[in-house]
Amino acid sequence: MAIQNYTVLSPNFPPQIQKRIDKGKKGWSQIGKGWLPLVVALDVVLAEKYPDYTINQCKEKFGGLRFYAGGIDEDGQRIINEYENESFKICDVCGKPGETIPLGRGWMATRCKEHAE
Ligand SMILES: [Zn+2]
Repeated sequence: MAIQNYTVLSPNFPPQIQKRIDKGKKGWSQIGKGWLPLVVALDVVLAEKYPDYTINQCKEKFGGLRFYAGGIDEDGQRIINEYENESFKICDVCGKPGETIPLGRGWMATRCKEHAE
């Protein structure tokens, strides 16, 4: 897999997620494809509880998923935190089990052995 093609960038998220990004505050949204199943699962849980919730930003920071939503309460934020914590165990390139490693120049990423470089 060409590593430069591993990301999903707005406006190319799956439609049910993209529509919430379009309604949100339009921060830069981009994640590795390995995390897409995690984000899709999170969206299902949030959408059931908060049908009109919006996504202000969805990205990677310090090797973990950051998911900023609107129209949720503390419960929703707790759900998001659980999924963000999960992301530290999932390779953001391929979705296999991974760990958070330094990539150099202060960058961190969560990667499996195969994608650790
Ligand atoms: Zn991987």
